[in-house]
Amino acid sequence: MNNQEIRLAAWPAIVHGKCPRCRRGNMFATPMYHFGSQVMNKTCPHCGMVFEREPGYFYVAMLVSYAMFVAEMVSMAVAIRTLTGSSNPWLYVGIILTVGVILSPFNFRYSRIILLHWLTPGLHYQPETSSDKK
Ligand SMILES: [Zn+2]
Repeated sequence: MNNQEIRLAAWPAIVHGKCPRCRRGNMFATPMYHFGSQVMNKTCPHCGMVFEREPGYFYVAMLVSYAMFVAEMVSMAVAIRTLTGSSNPWLYVGIILTVGVILSPFNFRYSRIILLHWLTPGLHYQPETSSDKK
């Protein structure tokens, strides 16, 4: 038996979309950008945690992705204003909607990651689940 405790860092697990409990299993079955919809694993392939904690749990992720989208929109509006100095509303609408569509798979994925890693009470990293399966 391997007694060496493994503690995996939080940030790589968040960036790579790993399970919040073991930080080893992938949350998503498909890559972020590809043709077709993103598929999330029902359970963690490493520790077996059920990602959808209760029915409709990921509706909360829509609020997170809404907050992310608003933050991106405001940042882009400030960036467009700073870079071009334009006051043409169609420039803002065109760029913000285009970038919003491009970022939507990112928002979908990271809203769920943020929800499970930071906004779920009672769900914490359990280092003992990170070790290799026996
Ligand atoms: Zn896991």
